[in-house]
Amino acid sequence: MDHLEEIRARIGIEELVGSYVQLKKAGRNLRGLCPFHGEKTPSFMVSPEKGIAYCFGCHQGGDIFKFIQLIENVDFTEAVKILAQKTNVTLPQKLPELNNKRLKSIEINQWSVRFFQEQLEQSPAKKEYFLKRGLTEEAVKKFQLGFAPDSFDQLKNYLLQKGFEPRELIDAAVVSQRSIADKNSYDRFRNRLIFPIFDHQDNPVGFSGRIMGDGEPKYLNSPESPAYNKSLVLYGLNWGKDKVKKEDLAIFVEGYMDVIAAHQAGNENTVATCGTALTPQQLKLIKRYTQNIAFAFDQDSAGMDATFRGIELAQMADVNIQIIRIPEGKDPDECIQKNPEAWKNALKNPISVMDFYFDYTFARFSKQTMEGKRQIMDFLLPLIRMYKREVEQGIYLNRLAIELKTDVRFLWNDLKNTKIETYHSPKANDETKPIERIFSREEFLLGFIFTYPEIYKIVDENLINNIPFDTNTERFYNLLKKGYTLGSLIDIEHVLSELTEEERENISIYNLLIDEKYPDFPRSLIEKEAGKLICQINRKNIEATKRDCQVKLNASADKQDAKLLLNRLMEIAKLEQRI
Ligand SMILES: [Zn+2]
Repeated sequence: MDHLEEIRARIGIEELVGSYVQLKKAGRNLRGLCPFHGEKTPSFMVSPEKGIAYCFGCHQGGDIFKFIQLIENVDFTEAVKILAQKTNVTLPQKLPELNNKRLKSIEINQWSVRFFQEQLEQSPAKKEYFLKRGLTEEAVKKFQLGFAPDSFDQLKNYLLQKGFEPRELIDAAVVSQRSIADKNSYDRFRNRLIFPIFDHQDNPVGFSGRIMGDGEPKYLNSPESPAYNKSLVLYGLNWGKDKVKKEDLAIFVEGYMDVIAAHQAGNENTVATCGTALTPQQLKLIKRYTQNIAFAFDQDSAGMDATFRGIELAQMADVNIQIIRIPEGKDPDECIQKNPEAWKNALKNPISVMDFYFDYTFARFSKQTMEGKRQIMDFLLPLIRMYKREVEQGIYLNRLAIELKTDVRFLWNDLKNTKIETYHSPKANDETKPIERIFSREEFLLGFIFTYPEIYKIVDENLINNIPFDTNTERFYNLLKKGYTLGSLIDIEHVLSELTEEERENISIYNLLIDEKYPDFPRSLIEKEAGKLICQINRKNIEATKRDCQVKLNASADKQDAKLLLNRLMEIAKLEQRI
């Protein structure tokens, strides 16, 4: 679209981000403190060349439009308007293309909701699942729950009959495609119970599909689409915003079932983040309705960590926080089913952030060992130091002294020597190494290939890709292989042109990752690193295939099958020798 290009041409990402964040030069990129999460070591990278900004700590970021969406908490259309104003670009009255894609996706989602509901009505056994878990008929209706049949094309055909184009179904993400080259597309949700996700204005923006019985993933979620910006949506808010205002409190839970159970129990002021960690944008959204929030996350270590992160974010967003300790069961849903009275009591008696910190610390570190005691003190003293009055500090120090079986006078001494911190993160210690933890080897290798296309030759010669491969990146490798003609350079531009916008953005992030990790490495070292990665990927894939074969072999009763599997194992053994 011309207007978007015009805006892009008039403002660079570094200029735009620079007006919000102080940036310093770092090689061919710039670096600053991330505006989306609290940090002391800058991990927010801006690449003027690629036109993107990205945080290697919290993994938020994107191009100029995405950056404005995130920082101003607006949707895409609004972001375009803001940037048009900044750059003096005159937009047409309507932004047909932008709005159309979003509206079309919402319309498709509306029909899909209807389809899934009809399917549920036609299969009472599936509906029974909801009812057995304590949902009423009214709740099934109110939350517009549904069922996706075990079919690759039933929804697709239904929507095509309604007059939608195949491309529009892919944009709306109800239908997916293995690759662009592959003309086949199929229903994303199959044989799953469906929870439609609505934004706060009641538009269906995506779906979550729960598997029937065991299997992975337990919940399959829609990816982002023109209609669905995950960091902007709170599940349940469309039904609960009046109650949030009335009670002047929003209760945050983890799951869809938790929201539904809480609404059924009369706590319609309950919302959930959808398959992601809480974001600053979601907090901004809730602040339109209330300044008070309560976290009622699961009673496991993941729930503890979610609460911890939530507190940090909420403190930065300047909202009042309480924590609800779930008295029974592993999550609010289970608690409400088992003992609704206990749930009501827990809501009436929330605990303070400091109480939560004490619980958190003692669950994490041992009071019995010297090392554990030291960790507990390192963790709690800076938090206690933040209280201005000695009386308040004294209350918590006394409590800590009792827990640690020590004299409170020692703690007062230690407290005086403790620095005040504005926020406190258990992750701060390993801040230097978030990169290896989160990006896969395959993604690193892609970063190398797209930054130094000439090394693809090594990849082509050495990467074994006729055995099952990492499903997240497989598509990129297949496209690269297809685009590679022996003896000549790989045509990166052509490969990029076959990628979707989201995939191209991922590639830019992998490029940034390489800039960040391997700044100005000589060619020989790059080749060596790539070689090492290829070797590790091969070994991992061979191991996985071998294990899979052996498991199947052990379970196989059929002679013919067994013979095939044995042959396969022998092939794998040969591959193993090659690497
Ligand atoms: Zn960040």
